[in-house]
Amino acid sequence: MSTLNNRQFLLARRPTGAASRDDFTFQTVPLAEIAPGQVQVKNEYLSLDPAMRGWMNEGKSYIAPVGLGEVMRALGVGRIIESQHPSFAVGDYVQGVLGVQDYFVGDPKGLHKVDPTLLPLPVYLAALGMTGMSAYFALLEVGQPKPGDTVVISGAAGAVGSVAGQIAKIKGCRVIGIAGGQEKCKTLVEAFGFDGAIDYKNEDLHAALKRECPKGVDLFFDNVGGDVLDAVLTRLAFKARVVICGAISQYNNKEAVKGPANYLSLLVNRARMEGFVVMDHAEHFGKAGREMAGWLAQGKLKSKEHVVEGLETFPETLQMLFNGENHGKLVLKV
Ligand code: NAP
Repeated sequence: MSTLNNRQFLLARRPTGAASRDDFTFQTVPLAEIAPGQVQVKNEYLSLDPAMRGWMNEGKSYIAPVGLGEVMRALGVGRIIESQHPSFAVGDYVQGVLGVQDYFVGDPKGLHKVDPTLLPLPVYLAALGMTGMSAYFALLEVGQPKPGDTVVISGAAGAVGSVAGQIAKIKGCRVIGIAGGQEKCKTLVEAFGFDGAIDYKNEDLHAALKRECPKGVDLFFDNVGGDVLDAVLTRLAFKARVVICGAISQYNNKEAVKGPANYLSLLVNRARMEGFVVMDHAEHFGKAGREMAGWLAQGKLKSKEHVVEGLETFPETLQMLFNGENHGKLVLKV
């Protein structure tokens, strides 16, 4: 019998609006025994994602909701502390769905080994994690950027946006980021090499888009939805591509999602708007990861993580994503 305890956040009820601590049960239980074919993982870092809010809702989506009373779903990286599986040894580091808890015990199907001697562990949740894969495939497969294209990215200083913008630069595009606040806008240009930035909280978005995109927008990578999507739709260039990667402005809505009133711009400009789900590209993650690791090593790509300490802070730390308090990939150190 294990002497270790496991702290866990269980989903207690489905939130209305923003998720809060009252929507979870925070419990401490003895660590479950390992069974044949299973592994025990000490979780080191958990990925905090806007999508977590969607996973708390009832109803059909691209993935089943987290059940009431279940451990809240989270991607993470951790270290194997016991193994009864031939492919995993004690001391291996793995990435996968580990849950908002101190330890994961179960079938390692879907866990992948990572090497902490090559890169710090949080990078495997950022540029080399699902975040980086989302930026890579949404931009390159759905967005189809061409050299010289004007690419606009919303949520640009965040995890996916900052990586997507840097990849667009690698591909020879002119990249404009939309982010909240002067500090984030400065980071986009000075640290990530964007060609321009728009502070949507303090500037008139329409006027700023006109200034930064005089020839229109060839590719819009949208993480935000709502008013930002509607504004960019008015600036589309002929044959533009609009990639719907996310719509964080709508995730905490108590009313219906706000749709794009300006969608007829798609008709006028013979443009295309397409949704994206990262898991559709899982088969090609290995190849993309190797290319991204190469760009990181060459200094062409920067991975920025925002690490907050303490599993116990989970509900409040998750909220940082919706308040714009994160600078880069939000990661919880367990
Ligand atoms: P993130 O951008 O690191 O963090 C969220 C950012 O969104 C905040 O920092 C904030 O930045 C901005 N934001 C929050 N509320 C906003 C609002 N009401 N209006 C405008 N901006 C707002 O998060 P991420 O993990 O990289 O995710 C970005 C998007 O990608 C999300 O929509 C997520 O759901 C999506 N995503 C989709 C997939 C997929 O497979 N489709 C996979 C991964 C992620 P500011 O300070 O600039 O406001």
